[in-house]
Amino acid sequence: MEEKDRQRFLRLLPSVDKILQHERVVNLLGEYPRWLVVKMTQQVVEEERKVILSCDRNLLSDDCLNLECFSKKISERISACGQMSLKRVINATGIIVHTNLGRSLLNHEILKNMEKIASSFSNLEYNLEQGKRGSRYTHVEDILCELTGAEAALVVNNNAGAVLIALNSIASNLEVIVSRGQLVEIGGSFRIPDVMRESGAKLIEVGTTNKTHLIDYKRAINDQTALLLKVHTSNFQIIGFTSEVKLEELVDLGREYSLPVMEDLGSGCFIELGKFGLTREPTVQEAIQSGVDVVTFSGDKLLGGPQAGIILGKEKIIERIRKNPINRALRIDKLTLAALESTLHLYMEGESVVERIPTLRMLTLPLVEIEKRAKSLYRRLRDKTNNSFHVEIKDDISRAGGGALPLQDLPTKVIAIKPVYISVDNLEERLRRYNPPVISRIDDDQVLLDVRTLQKGDAEIIGKAVKSIFAPPCK
Ligand SMILES: *Cc1c(COP(=O)(O)O)cnc(C)c1O
Repeated sequence: MEEKDRQRFLRLLPSVDKILQHERVVNLLGEYPRWLVVKMTQQVVEEERKVILSCDRNLLSDDCLNLECFSKKISERISACGQMSLKRVINATGIIVHTNLGRSLLNHEILKNMEKIASSFSNLEYNLEQGKRGSRYTHVEDILCELTGAEAALVVNNNAGAVLIALNSIASNLEVIVSRGQLVEIGGSFRIPDVMRESGAKLIEVGTTNKTHLIDYKRAINDQTALLLKVHTSNFQIIGFTSEVKLEELVDLGREYSLPVMEDLGSGCFIELGKFGLTREPTVQEAIQSGVDVVTFSGDKLLGGPQAGIILGKEKIIERIRKNPINRALRIDKLTLAALESTLHLYMEGESVVERIPTLRMLTLPLVEIEKRAKSLYRRLRDKTNNSFHVEIKDDISRAGGGALPLQDLPTKVIAIKPVYISVDNLEERLRRYNPPVISRIDDDQVLLDVRTLQKGDAEIIGKAVKSIFAPPCK
């Protein structure tokens, strides 16, 4: 667009005051608080200004800037305000366990169970056999032990809490030995050294960033040592000249000095991912089998359940953790417990779990299926009569996310959209502001929509979103 046109459009942009005098807006002022109407008006004007500034051809007409058009947008915006703040979004990022987008999805079987527990009284802390007070933790303890081979189990609010309470129960005022290469920070600023300080345990770092040997642990052991800790470096990997002490070796060392050994597994996977052509993640069962005393992991990462921190291990230690007063502060809520128990039941049913747990289904989705979805979405978006955008299918990479399989490339297909008259940033923003928001990513001056993480019905919504964004303005 020529600069003089751009200036003309900017001059045509009505003032907030002028819009507030329009009949429809005056009506809105009668219905809604003034601050809200003013705020939405300012927002709409600001967005139109951005469109004028970013449009690179004369796509706008004078009509677009009339008061009628503005007042309509403001009215729509205000009715949308009745919406919830926490709402569904469409994950087109291709990151399966996306912490910012709520991690794992629960399937309808799990939701049915949650609904029943939420809308009725339950035996949450009531022992039906004895007719007296029971414990909420018993509901998932047996099934967790059955699935993993652990002696005992405890669940808390999340894995950060699980690590905190375990360290506090085992090593308060004492020393915990950790390899320097495992002092990780997980997204959202969960740092192992910080959690350790809050737990009252003293961190003893051994080894170097890339190499730690058994002898390094051994040399650090003294009469203040309470625990040997291994942390799964879930969201990064040091490659090249590296060595880490195997869990088994650490367990042997622990036995030699009568010290407990703990592993923070992070993602906590129950199934052998190697079977699906993915990088092997150490499974929870393997960790237990190695003889480790305590293992902690998340409920909503690769396990694919609700947010929870799962602690498994030897009965004596789990009992100590259970009795820690912090447990009351970290306690798992009943809906989470209902969701977790249903999730674990799906694992009891064997191989079909991969189909029934959305996180596992997305992770193991065959490329042919992804291709089919990509083609179908492509056909939906392609519009030969509209020259304001180009769309194509491209090869790309999805990620497991949630700090799991950091080096695993998951080949996928993405829909790449290149807008002609607006910027890619503007397109990304408009998709994000759509209702429901569509979360995409930008690469190589295109907006990419990864079909791997799309759910049923999402393609139709994306079709509508794209159509409305590229429709001639004000229609
Ligand atoms: C994700 C992760 C945590 C934190 O788990 P939350 O469930 O987010 O509390 C702790 N340790 C490791 C190694 C992790 O990957």
